[in-house]
Amino acid sequence: MSDLSRPKPTGLLFIVSAPSGAGKTSLVKALVERDPELVLSVSCTTRPARTGEQDGVHYHFLDRARFEREIAEGAFLEHAEVFGNRYGTRAADVRQCLDAGQDVILEIDWQGARQVRERFPESIGLFVLPPSIAELERRLRGRGTDSDAVIARRMTQAHDELAHFAEYAYLVVNDCFETALAALAAIVTAERQRLAHQRPRLAALLDSIESIH
Ligand code: 5GP
Repeated sequence: MSDLSRPKPTGLLFIVSAPSGAGKTSLVKALVERDPELVLSVSCTTRPARTGEQDGVHYHFLDRARFEREIAEGAFLEHAEVFGNRYGTRAADVRQCLDAGQDVILEIDWQGARQVRERFPESIGLFVLPPSIAELERRLRGRGTDSDAVIARRMTQAHDELAHFAEYAYLVVNDCFETALAALAAIVTAERQRLAHQRPRLAALLDSIESIH
């Protein structure tokens, strides 16, 4: 096969979802830190920045008007309303990384994951589970400073997200952080060795093997 007719190697697209309290953000951060081939997509949101969050690093913080405009322009690969705020992933950012052969990880909710699966059926969905509902509730109670109403709302939201676990290819339980991190890393490694992914990357080697027969 000539170089021009070979499919270009493109990156893999991973989606990670979880209810809040499952530890998804810390796991994804650690995963990306130890894997230079994996790029975490920076989402856009209309929610205000929390203390310590930087624009362009943790999120692109947009006002509603700007967000709506980008929706109208078709800029988002997916977008959703979560807890009363809008969140979305810019398609061009993801496309650019994938085309450059980089693997991309999206940390998004189940609504966004559905939209991404429609546009990228080959994307790989991972869902992070808490070890038990009781443990999730304990984590969501936090330092015990929130009212029962606030905790109850958090639990309802967590249940809404949990209800969608079966839409993902992989389930990782975050009981022990290091074990869960190792599982996520193993999934990424395994997906990279798939035949379809390896073919364009190992083209020269595979051509030489095929030419023997
Ligand atoms: P937080 O405001 O706590 O950072 O995130 C709240 C929720 O929004 C989390 O479940 C997170 O996964 C989700 N989220 C963050 N970015 C995106 C995004 O770009 N798209 C979608 N659909 N959900 C997102």
